[in-house]
Amino acid sequence: MTSPVWHPFTQHGLNEPIPRIVRTEGAALHTDDGRRIIDAISSWWVTTHGHSHPRIMAAIADQASRMDQIIFAGWTHEPAETLARELTRIMPPELTRVFFSDSGSTAVEVALKMALGYWANRGEPRHRILVLEHSYHGDTIGAMSVGARGVFNRAYSPLLFDVGTLPFPVQGAEQAMLDALEAACREHPAALIVEPLLLGAGGMLIYSPETLAQMAAICARHGVLFIADEVMTGWGRTGTLLACEQAGVVPDILCLSKGLTGGAIPLAVTMAREPIFEAHRSTDRSTMFFHSSSYTANPIACAAAVANLEIWRDEPVLDRIADLTERQSTRLPALTNIRNARQIGTVTAMELGAPSSAYLSDLGPKLLAFFRERNLLLRPLGNTVYVMPPYCIGDDDLDAIYSAIADAAASCASGSFG
Ligand SMILES: *Cc1c(COP(=O)(O)O)cnc(C)c1O
Repeated sequence: MTSPVWHPFTQHGLNEPIPRIVRTEGAALHTDDGRRIIDAISSWWVTTHGHSHPRIMAAIADQASRMDQIIFAGWTHEPAETLARELTRIMPPELTRVFFSDSGSTAVEVALKMALGYWANRGEPRHRILVLEHSYHGDTIGAMSVGARGVFNRAYSPLLFDVGTLPFPVQGAEQAMLDALEAACREHPAALIVEPLLLGAGGMLIYSPETLAQMAAICARHGVLFIADEVMTGWGRTGTLLACEQAGVVPDILCLSKGLTGGAIPLAVTMAREPIFEAHRSTDRSTMFFHSSSYTANPIACAAAVANLEIWRDEPVLDRIADLTERQSTRLPALTNIRNARQIGTVTAMELGAPSSAYLSDLGPKLLAFFRERNLLLRPLGNTVYVMPPYCIGDDDLDAIYSAIADAAASCASGSFG
């Protein structure tokens, strides 16, 4: 019997195999037919320390034995209070307020609504949002609106709101983007939203901390709110806790999700500077922040995130990240038959096959199948192959990943992938 499950980003008409996972541990997924799959992309960028981290799983079990969801409008609980306090301790001190939601997309929606609410409540309404070319901020309507347009959202495009798109700061051509930002800021937009240093779904595109710092400085000079979407880059991915750190930038609004619970359970936060909170605080009920999800600040998810923060406090996480960065940087240059090899922190990326950046290029599914047959979870973005493993991954697993990429690159070069 066929399964009634409708999978995300899956063309069911192609009848590709859908492996069934029964257990996860460290950098590995175990299938029901006894295979060990190396998770080279951290299960779509969520797993940081490793799968089923004992401390996080224990915190979930412990919290689940005491309390389930409670309403969070006007009520509170200890896991959320502890988490918010610990977040304000580990994140830049300017970010004094923590708003909970449940996914990266909702964290972005919340950020956009906070920015518009800020301007509306100050009596100078602004609505325009500036974005970077090739950016990705999630799959809800607002998050898609501030992301790149393409095959992913063509069917919905009439419903997406208009934004100001700045050219991606290709190395050597950063000034064009900065000039465009400067010009756009003169028209009083509400905010700029960016993925700091690394654009993920747009093709693992990297730009420099200097450019990020200049972007933030231009926004600050014009009073335009600077929103950092660190849903993917946060929690050490780029080598530092936040990518913004490398540029010495503190955003006005910060979106965190994915690694917030170490990748164990859904949770997101949008952190804001005090003036954004203050713009919503008054005795007038019409200026409160009108946003909630049913599962806001789920206690079990909050307990998982508190455990994640304890791991960051007690374990040498940044050393592990530096070590993984180093171990990847010795393997990447050994690859041949690839183009545009690049790395930032724990993430490496490269293009295989003939130059073409189309997400739907025929190469993608062939590569996916090739890696699946090698018991590897690698999911190329078109012909861009990237590696983003859990921080605990061992050398043997890294070798398996890089030798599979080398073989795939050789097959592409010899034309045997067609
Ligand atoms: C994954 C991602 C999102 C969306 O997060 P979801 O939890 O999938 O909704 C938003 N922004 C960035 C930068 C992401 O990588």
